[in-house]
Amino acid sequence: MKKKIVIANWKMNHDFYETTSFLRDLLKIFFDKKINYKKKVIIAPSFPFLQISNQILQGTSLNVAAQNVHQMENGPYTGEVSASMLRSIGIKQVILGHSERKKYFSETNDILLKKIHISLKYGLNIIFCVGETFFERKRKEQFIVVKNQLEETVFQCTSEKISNFIIAYEPIWAIGTGETATPEQVQKMHKYIRTLFLDKYGEKISKKIHILYGGSINDTNARNIFSKEDIDGGLVGNSSLQIEKFLKILLS
Ligand code: PEP
Repeated sequence: MKKKIVIANWKMNHDFYETTSFLRDLLKIFFDKKINYKKKVIIAPSFPFLQISNQILQGTSLNVAAQNVHQMENGPYTGEVSASMLRSIGIKQVILGHSERKKYFSETNDILLKKIHISLKYGLNIIFCVGETFFERKRKEQFIVVKNQLEETVFQCTSEKISNFIIAYEPIWAIGTGETATPEQVQKMHKYIRTLFLDKYGEKISKKIHILYGGSINDTNARNIFSKEDIDGGLVGNSSLQIEKFLKILLS
């Protein structure tokens, strides 16, 4: 069976002290108590703390991801961070396409495709987010919206590159709102996404690809969500900021 993946997206939260003490406490609990959490864990802290996070987690099964990367190689892009910079400090994964980046930083599918190319060029694995708005779901357009998002981005890549992707289905109306999609709604969408991968890349890849759910996962709803056949884990925002809650999610 595929090991489920849980990703903590800390967004613009946790300073240096909070980041390092969270990770040290997490490791202590993981390895002192010898609990088998049965999940692959990826932590996405803010840019300034990627390197120290990577150092703390080095040699463990836990990994670090960046929350974003710029689409250009280098140059006059004040305040931005390149894929080669991330690689130079040992980062191997990046979240792309998060709806907050689309909403507040105007990221389009064109920009995301460039980000995909530069990330792959520098050997970064990609956690790619897709999802519909509240009104798109109301109009019953969620499937076509997600299909279009994938076709204009991830599906532009060859099958050789697809093993570098994790897909995260994140309905925008459920992110940071406390409103979760029902496990049945999520399962339906994940099955659909898997079918899209089947049609485009064949059975082996469609079975292998991890499709995570993100949107107000917490320590009480995680078990139900993770129990569904096509849900291979979760991308967790708010509930990943407190260690007790996050550990409960990992045990779900
Ligand atoms: C996210 O940021 O990707 C997310 C799912 O956030 P939250 O869990 O807070 O809804």
